[in-house]
Amino acid sequence: IGKPFDQAAPIIHTLNKHGYECFFVGGSVRDFQLKRTIGDVDLATDADPHTVQQLFKRTIPVGIEHGTILVLLNDNSYEVTTYRTEGEYKDHRHPEQVFFVDSIEEDLSRRDFTINAIAMDLDGNIIDPFNGLQDLKSKRIQTVRHAQDRFNEDALRMLRAIRFSSQLEFFIDDEVVTAIKENRSLLDAISVERITVELTKMFGGNGVVRALEYLKETNLYQQLPIFRENEEVFSQVYKRLREPISDQAVLIAYLHLMEPSISISTWCKAYKLSNAVKRKATIIHEAFDQHQTTGLTNDLLYQLTFDHIPSWNEYIRLAEGKSYDLSELYSMFEQLPIKQKSDLAINGSDLIRLFPGRKKGKWISDYLSELEYQVLRQELPNQKDEIERQVKTWNQTEQN
Ligand code: ATP
Ligand code: MG
Repeated sequence: IGKPFDQAAPIIHTLNKHGYECFFVGGSVRDFQLKRTIGDVDLATDADPHTVQQLFKRTIPVGIEHGTILVLLNDNSYEVTTYRTEGEYKDHRHPEQVFFVDSIEEDLSRRDFTINAIAMDLDGNIIDPFNGLQDLKSKRIQTVRHAQDRFNEDALRMLRAIRFSSQLEFFIDDEVVTAIKENRSLLDAISVERITVELTKMFGGNGVVRALEYLKETNLYQQLPIFRENEEVFSQVYKRLREPISDQAVLIAYLHLMEPSISISTWCKAYKLSNAVKRKATIIHEAFDQHQTTGLTNDLLYQLTFDHIPSWNEYIRLAEGKSYDLSELYSMFEQLPIKQKSDLAINGSDLIRLFPGRKKGKWISDYLSELEYQVLRQELPNQKDEIERQVKTWNQTEQN
């Protein structure tokens, strides 16, 4: 039935050989039916987690209390989860307990949407008690059982409905939309980290414009950090964002550009994004600003660094409607005399050795950054002797 499933087949064979059931479940089955690119292949089994651990050589008990064991096979890893249902939900986010159950049907019944509640075996046979296949065909997002109840159990599902509508370009059932409207305040119980995961996927989906419509129609945006406190920020995004943005740094930089009163660091803090994302968003935004005054220069590409060139190009395309040819940017970068500080033909220790009489201090980093830019602007060749001659003249004038 296809490569990602075939690669996981030994897991199913092993469990079957020992008398257990095992099926493909969740996103991979859905995406396979839709002929979309398949992400993680998840499995469900009636074997208990300890049995799963015993049957496979390399395992990691990533969520053993919820029945999930990660099985490592060749270069892949698979979440193998024991059939389960969930107990009472007290706080709209986590069940008090989970209960292992005997049948795949019961396991499917705890899943959020009908399109995510389909199981498949190695021959492509389907188990579909909630008519998920039909909903895939009619492009509908519908909860397994009553939306109202399912959102009360776990409020994140409201945002998940909207992110799936974006990724799959599906419509959300009226009953589900109504239930989101009525229960939106429950989203406050959900951690920012989980919200960020769903929102990032939402912004990266081809149906992002439709998803923004749903956020507005249900007022769910009023439960989201920053949008909650700044009505006009959401309306800017709603009006102006017309295409998916999958890179978090580009997204944050663009959100900041649409509403400059909210800084990049405010966005990153509110959504608990990593320092790496914050740094990258800042770098591409600064390069964007600089580009507006100087155009494309060696300095600009150097400051971006090789890694951030494509994201920056994407950012200026979003902001200005046009971008550069990536290969052109790469070949320009390739021709830079130096590509990073460590490429400079001289370093701090060299400078100290060169002027043994001078106390260590700020002059060292000042010299290095001045050299960096002279070399970049090709005012000075990147050669040790030439550079030494240059710094000696600086030293001369400073000592006098
Ligand atoms: P993606 O391709 O983005 O990973 P996915 O469908 O695999 O999409 P996951 O978040 O990885 O989504 O979850 C895997 C499966 O677990 C889902 O398809 C669904 O069956 C179930 N699931 C995940 N989160 C929930 C939830 N909050 N409530 C109920 N079921 C859930
Ligand atoms: Mg998944």
